Amino acid sequence: MVVPYKHEPFTDFSIEENRNALESAIKQVEAELGKEYPLIIGGERIMTDDKIKVVNPANKKEVIGYVAKANQDLAEKAHKIADETFDWWRKTKAQFRADILFRAAAIIRRRKHEFTAHLVKEGGKPWKEADADTAEAIDFMEYYGRQMLTIDKGVEVNSRPIENNRFHYIPLGVGVVISPWNFLFAIMAGTTTAAMVSGNTVLLKPASSTPIIAYKMMEVLEDAGLPAGVINYIPGSGKEVGDYLVDHPRTRFISFTGSREVGTRIFERAAKVHPGQQWLKRTIIEMGGKDTIVVDKDADLELAADAITYSAFGFSGQKCSACSRVVAHEAIYDDLLNRVTAKTKEEVSHGDPSDNASYMGPVIDQGAYDKIMSYIEIGKQEGKLMAGGKGDASKGWFVEPTVIADLAPDARVMKEEIFGPVVGFTKASSFDEAIEIANNTEYGLTGAVLTKNRAHIEQAREDFHVGNLYFNRGCTAAIVGYHPFGGFNMSGTDSKAGGPDYLLQHMQGKTTSEML
Ligand code: GLU
Repeated sequence: MVVPYKHEPFTDFSIEENRNALESAIKQVEAELGKEYPLIIGGERIMTDDKIKVVNPANKKEVIGYVAKANQDLAEKAHKIADETFDWWRKTKAQFRADILFRAAAIIRRRKHEFTAHLVKEGGKPWKEADADTAEAIDFMEYYGRQMLTIDKGVEVNSRPIENNRFHYIPLGVGVVISPWNFLFAIMAGTTTAAMVSGNTVLLKPASSTPIIAYKMMEVLEDAGLPAGVINYIPGSGKEVGDYLVDHPRTRFISFTGSREVGTRIFERAAKVHPGQQWLKRTIIEMGGKDTIVVDKDADLELAADAITYSAFGFSGQKCSACSRVVAHEAIYDDLLNRVTAKTKEEVSHGDPSDNASYMGPVIDQGAYDKIMSYIEIGKQEGKLMAGGKGDASKGWFVEPTVIADLAPDARVMKEEIFGPVVGFTKASSFDEAIEIANNTEYGLTGAVLTKNRAHIEQAREDFHVGNLYFNRGCTAAIVGYHPFGGFNMSGTDSKAGGPDYLLQHMQGKTTSEML
């Protein structure tokens, strides 16, 4: 019997011992910089001439490593192996597959700071954010292992005196998992292990800016007993390898987390039935958000200012759950705006996260930097710059935490996803209007409402159309098993990572009926 699921506690870095542990883990990571990492196909390590150079976004000159890059031939080889492996892997016991995850989670837990230190470097994550990312990777493994055991018990259907009926879920086949750079460990581990534990084989193509942590997870899974060929590690270009795998007639499903642009492209390509294809492909897609915090006139404004600041600037706003818009009741708008502006200026420092001295680290790369800076320019035209507004890409990609006020609800910075440390403010004259503005987006991922008014909580529960709605707190930091995570509309396929029905999306129901 496994113990009940409980989420992995976060590390308290105010304790000296914990600080020392992470500092020495960071030194260890620094000693290993610049290593080369091969592909893993059917358990075989394959080095390629063409490599992905992975740099620390806080310090572009620091090369974290060089990762082998798959091409179409290698992707085909991996696909074939995954397909062959599926023939027997699909018949393994759920307990066997879940046990691999329980053991992998235990290994990561024992070596937690080593992984966290790596995330600080490869992802440019502040300690606290990196620690939460490692904890969430552990959570996904623990939670999905248990969920698989529950699903394995089957679902009751009715039998009759003349027949014995059963209903159970079977896996789909070969899945392509394309994971993002922002939760480089957690989402990569969650999407990959969900697919694997439910009996599928996997082609894992991690984000090109953060592929090394995925290699490290592969090593852990192998240590935990994962057989060769079940998960194949094939970083590579989206255009060359990603499209090829998505289009492949033997691909059964695609699990993608990332931008709306790529997500919609995958959705469209996956819909096309290619010669030799025997099924309609399943897609599990998580895209962006334009997440809003609504602040009512009677809200606790200090709580609201804290919630906004953390939700907007945690990991430099590079979460699809990040707060990028605030809709405040006109009665408290100025007070709230002043508090958030002051907090941003006083408390949200930014710098290299390695030394744990700053609240915020860099943004991920030059493309992100340019995009965010151009939105800040647009925001300055559309509204009033209250804090931040500048960037510096000389050493790493740093953008100041930026607050823009007095925006029209339909301003571009209030409607388009920026994915950086930028938050816009707009005013509403009533709670009804505030909810209307909050819903004025094509996305529907997260949202929060700060209010003391019980009727307004109930109104928002019904009318604020987002997948994750929070009351009297921020809109980020969902916890696996507690807050199933995923959004509506253009935020994705309505799937809920870390929720009770997530694994079922990687499976199909089979009815058997025996005449007695
Ligand atoms: N699950 C994360 C949160 O609740 C966000 C995930 C994402 O950015 O993709 O903050």
